[in-house]
Amino acid sequence: MYASTQVQPRVWIGCLACYNGGDLVGDWYDGDMAGLVTPADLHGRTTSHEELWVMDHDGFSGALDGECSPDHAAEVAEALAELTDDESSAFAAWFQLYAERDEPDGWVEQFREDYRGFHDSEADFAREWFEETSSEEERARLNQWPFYDIDWERAAQELFTGGFTSEETLGGIHVFYAA
Ligand SMILES: [Zn+2]
Repeated sequence: MYASTQVQPRVWIGCLACYNGGDLVGDWYDGDMAGLVTPADLHGRTTSHEELWVMDHDGFSGALDGECSPDHAAEVAEALAELTDDESSAFAAWFQLYAERDEPDGWVEQFREDYRGFHDSEADFAREWFEETSSEEERARLNQWPFYDIDWERAAQELFTGGFTSEETLGGIHVFYAA
């Protein structure tokens, strides 16, 4: 189900042969149906034209940029349909980085495994990460000299060259861990 605030992904599918001949023949379709559209659908009659292409799209939360095949658009639309609004923007960032690594039917599961949340900054994430992975004793020391003066920005560098990745987004970063 799509929440009311979320735009349902739509694609404008065009005929490549017509396009190359200077004609724009195409129409808008629901994203998850993109793979089922046939050349005959677009032309309103049988045609020898075979190749269709997504030339424009809307509502993909940034997961698609530019043109792509209708099958690819349908796979991305199906993945987005499984996600909450909050997840969509993070998924788009993840998708740009890692989508090619996994099969489409594993995208959502792998995204949820890799995603480590939205944070103000890498330094902020480093401190939270330490607090989550340290013992109570270690955490208590954060308030004692000299530990209260840790350079978290520098500490973050270590994390973010060791498997963690961040993608900037409005007001902060999405953090991923890809094993
Ligand atoms: Zn055509």
